[in-house]
Amino acid sequence: MTKGRKKGDQTHMGKVAIYPGSFDPLTYGHIDIVERALAIFDKVILAIAHDAEKKPLFTVQERVEMAKLIFKDTPGVVVDSFKGLLVNYVEKSNAKVILRGLRATSDFEYEYHMASMNRSLNVHLDTLFMMTSKDYFFVSSRTIKEVAKLGGTVEGLVPDLVARRLKEKFKLPVGERRLIGWDD
Ligand code: ADP
Repeated sequence: MTKGRKKGDQTHMGKVAIYPGSFDPLTYGHIDIVERALAIFDKVILAIAHDAEKKPLFTVQERVEMAKLIFKDTPGVVVDSFKGLLVNYVEKSNAKVILRGLRATSDFEYEYHMASMNRSLNVHLDTLFMMTSKDYFFVSSRTIKEVAKLGGTVEGLVPDLVARRLKEKFKLPVGERRLIGWDD
């Protein structure tokens, strides 16, 4: 037993994992990780970062609203948002596990640094990685946005609600559509 960790920690409140990210927007890659995590944890908190670094396409309110609708019939999933240090949010939520998804080896270096930094900030927190499913290894919020912006189909890669909201976001005037090769 690790020093400082009490035997039976968390058992009284169920096993909780915090799944943090930008989710700008939520994809089936993310949803797959949440669904698989529910086989291990009693509760998965999808924690949407306000993210001062990146400039998101969807506001945090829009991302929270979409995620709440998408998970409304999935017991065990709670959608929330957070600002500031992830470890502070995790501590406040009384969770011990940060959940992250891993796609290619290119994700590894960044994730390894973040997990190590978070553990150095709070030695009682662990990061659990789940490998992407073969159907979603190439799916990222960034590429989804790029494809949707150019009028390509993202069907089967994001929920219908997300596909509709992407279309609304990228509704361009007819002149601009021609410039990037869309049919009217
Ligand atoms: P970030 O926190 O870097 O903004 P995202 O919000 O895009 O990342 O994703 C949140 C988490 O989900 C990250 O751990 C990311 O690696 C993971 N993830 C994203 N897309 C997929 C996918 N297709 N399969 C598995 N994991 C994924």
